[in-house]
Amino acid sequence: MDIKSFVAKRKAELSAMAKSLPVVPTLMIIQANDDPASNSYVRGKIKDGEEIGFKVLLNKLPTTVTQAELLKEVEKANEDPNIHGLIVQLPLPKQIDEKAVKLAVNPSKDVDGFHPLSSFIPCTPKGIVAYLKAEGFDFKGKNAVVLGRSEIVGKPMAKFLLSLDCNVTVLHSKTSMEDKKAYIKMTDLIVVAIGRLGYLDNSFEYKSSAVIVDVGINRGEDGKLHGDAVPNLPVAIQTPVPGGVGLLTRLALMDNLMEAVNHELRD
Ligand code: NAP
Repeated sequence: MDIKSFVAKRKAELSAMAKSLPVVPTLMIIQANDDPASNSYVRGKIKDGEEIGFKVLLNKLPTTVTQAELLKEVEKANEDPNIHGLIVQLPLPKQIDEKAVKLAVNPSKDVDGFHPLSSFIPCTPKGIVAYLKAEGFDFKGKNAVVLGRSEIVGKPMAKFLLSLDCNVTVLHSKTSMEDKKAYIKMTDLIVVAIGRLGYLDNSFEYKSSAVIVDVGINRGEDGKLHGDAVPNLPVAIQTPVPGGVGLLTRLALMDNLMEAVNHELRD
């Protein structure tokens, strides 16, 4: 199934589930930037929520907000029983300590999965695994390479794949090209999240049965969005950019919000 159909199907399921709940699942987004990319991500999240029948509230703060003011808004949302999920949109202004803000979000509302004690799997890895499971990918004992070791994608992706019994190797900017080529050649699943346009190309050898999940979002000289891999590599499945992991990430946020409500109703 292509990613757009997979996302549409799951959204319809979430929508049906939402109708049977005694509460309206509600997400609060706190945004303290006026970054065009962030504005577009926030619009996407609001649109997804509305389509499903969730409520998405935006608390947009001035970019001059102080640490104390921002933490106060986080605390208010933490304590509000009508808010089930809370995310603080990144990036944050220079004067803000990002780590302190991530740690201030109540772990049981932290639907981005950024808090170390969060009840939720971070959205990009969660969305990717949900899609691959639906595609029938059997993770157990498979060789997986994660290119990139960021806190929001690379590391949680590697941890999640390990929990699914993959043999996981994490490669990064200090890995030699020789080693990258050797690992990739024997890999069943490649997740690339490095932010380098077209980095994976035909100069690498791939297993013809391999799956490439392209997380990268790079603006090309043509003004369009491109992935970290060139299109149409000789593998079994390669996720497109745009229309790939970005949609899965957005879907996983909605899934986490539903999970947050279900936890609360159960407890
Ligand atoms: P990031 O914080 O930008 O870090 C990049 C990572 O890639 C670092 O770990 C770096 O290694 C590694 N790297 C850089 N050049 C490399 C190279 N030549 N070979 C191997 N590794 C290399 O990472 P991120 O935030 O995860 O973002 C990565 C990309 O994914 C970006 O394009 C971003 O826009 C995109 N993204 C997409 C989504 C989505 O939903 N589709 C979500 C999040 C991010 P070192 O640690 O050694 O520096």
